[in-house]
Amino acid sequence: MNIKSGIELLSYCEEKKVPIYHAAIDYEKQNSGMSEKEILDKMMISWNVMKVSIAKGLDKKQNIKGKMIGGEAKKLKEYYDSHVSVCGLTMSKAISYALSVIEVNASMGRIVACPTAGSSGVLPAVLLSTKETFNLLDKDIIHGLLTSSMVGIIIGKNASLSGAQGGCQAEVGSASAMAAAAVVEMLGGSCEQALHAASMCLKNIMGLVCDPVAGLVEVPCAKRNTIGTANAMISAEMALAGIVSIIPFDEVVYAMDRVGRMMPVCLRETAEGGVAATPTGQRLKEEIMPKA
Ligand code: SF4
Repeated sequence: MNIKSGIELLSYCEEKKVPIYHAAIDYEKQNSGMSEKEILDKMMISWNVMKVSIAKGLDKKQNIKGKMIGGEAKKLKEYYDSHVSVCGLTMSKAISYALSVIEVNASMGRIVACPTAGSSGVLPAVLLSTKETFNLLDKDIIHGLLTSSMVGIIIGKNASLSGAQGGCQAEVGSASAMAAAAVVEMLGGSCEQALHAASMCLKNIMGLVCDPVAGLVEVPCAKRNTIGTANAMISAEMALAGIVSIIPFDEVVYAMDRVGRMMPVCLRETAEGGVAATPTGQRLKEEIMPKA
């Protein structure tokens, strides 16, 4: 079994009459030699790490290297706990979870890089807020994680998951696509709908550059994770409602890869373009990393 594209994934699921998460278990069994139980246990370990990383930043401000971020998750929680949320509580909670995980990441705390450390806030945020809203079980979340992994594998094989290679669209965009597909399947959507959701996510932030100020995963990364989270939830909702991506998943992934390859080096994690190159970005860089 060597699934390389969305089309192949859909054929596999159709032929075997299984959801994407099942295809992911089959894929992993064959490629890692692990048993189904070992795979599920490993996913549970990851899910537990995700939950701890969400709780940590919501509880208190973390000690961040560059000090450009810190305390935002807690601040947002205090706001939605005492005000009517502008975005609706599910979304507000989700974006506070994403901010928390990124804060923990920036403090060198333990996170699950899914698919990367820079985009590690999206998947846990979307999964936990969906779990809370729909009273899902941890078992459902493990299935969601497996669904997301299959989407990530296909993007990684055909494009990139790295900001240095493909810009932020490849990191946060892929995280969004993975999370959206997971939500669709967890809520009973079909494999096709899961890939429609993933396609919409990638299209929605196609072309997003990677421009970390001072080369640190703080600014604009924390807030990029919130837009990635919102993107996943918006796209999952649309797909579940029967809205389709006019451009098929594999073609969107191909387009994202092409866009990434066209991006100049200054917009691919070198901290030489985008907001990193603004006067404030440059001043912060000097303050955080003064020249010897
Ligand atoms: S800006 Fe770059 S480093 Fe920051 S989250 Fe996006 S891809 Fe990652």
